[in-house]
Amino acid sequence: MNRRKVLIASLIIGALGLAPLAQAQNKGLVGVSMPTKSSARWISDGESMVKYLKEAGYAADLQFAEDDIPNQLAQVENLVTKGAKVLIIAAIDGSTLSDVLKKAADKGVKVISYDRMITKTPNVDYYATFDNFAVGVLQASSLESALKLKEGKGPYNIELFGGSPDDTNAYFFYDGAMSVLKPYIDKGKLVVRSKQMGMDKIGTLRWDGAVAQARMDNLLSAFYGKEKIHAVLSPYDGLSIGILSSLKGVGYCTAQQPCPYVSGQDAEVPSVKSIIRNEQYSTVFKDTRQLAKVAVNMVDAVLSGKKPEINDTKTYNNGVKILPSYLLKPILVDKTNYKDVLVGSGYYTEAQLK
Ligand code: BGC
Repeated sequence: MNRRKVLIASLIIGALGLAPLAQAQNKGLVGVSMPTKSSARWISDGESMVKYLKEAGYAADLQFAEDDIPNQLAQVENLVTKGAKVLIIAAIDGSTLSDVLKKAADKGVKVISYDRMITKTPNVDYYATFDNFAVGVLQASSLESALKLKEGKGPYNIELFGGSPDDTNAYFFYDGAMSVLKPYIDKGKLVVRSKQMGMDKIGTLRWDGAVAQARMDNLLSAFYGKEKIHAVLSPYDGLSIGILSSLKGVGYCTAQQPCPYVSGQDAEVPSVKSIIRNEQYSTVFKDTRQLAKVAVNMVDAVLSGKKPEINDTKTYNNGVKILPSYLLKPILVDKTNYKDVLVGSGYYTEAQLK
């Protein structure tokens, strides 16, 4: 290419905003594997990671596996083949990655478990997540205060929903929630009319809202003929929306018959709007920008031969070892603070929530 052509080419690249990417690729490739696009949080996680990786001088390859395990395995394997130096993975099923991570480790690839724990393998280096037990405590505490259980009110009827049984987070959420709710259940101040308790009975495979909706339909018709339901423990906004649809189908969420108190997680837009309409009661906000930042800082430390910052070395045993982890704090959001927390932090604009 002569000088004029080089100049024109660089002007075009500059105009397309590609110049920083070309520079950014110097520090190597980082593979990011997210479970699905069906929930907005994973899209935000992915976008933030790509942004921070590029700012830190890395090239990023972001993949979504649409909740299909073989698809995620193939994508991760492909990232290794492409020469990724570090993998950041939010697993669909944390126990399925052992073989592919063995291949990665053999090539010297480092692995960061992202939000969800990768289990049954030694080939995970760090874990970036939230305090997942605290998430469950917040969900249950919001129901506790809505029902004024501390003030001695009750008995009230409640049903319990769990997350996907192949995601270790689901157990932390459930255990955290039960640390608050169980004493009231034992005293008879909360009544689970279905008697369905424990993750083996209340789990919702792949966090599927339609599955939760169908289960709520069954619970309402089998156990709530004349009796009213007052609260539902839901671990994730996508389930909460399904549960609320079911409740509306039998006449709840009207002036005569308000919605029961329903918890949630992720502060997804449909749920925040539902909270504003007095339907869903609360959600738990986990700032995906901060989690992405933690993961990218880990990448940068690992690849510069430094020790990543961690703040937990006890909680997350993946069956082979305890993962050195960095835990962020989740925040309870309801109608009283959604503007401060979600709009104030710039996570959403007010217009998005209209
Ligand atoms: C995440 C939650 C999310 C759920 C469903 C969990 O592993 O921690 O934030 O609600 O998966 O996507």
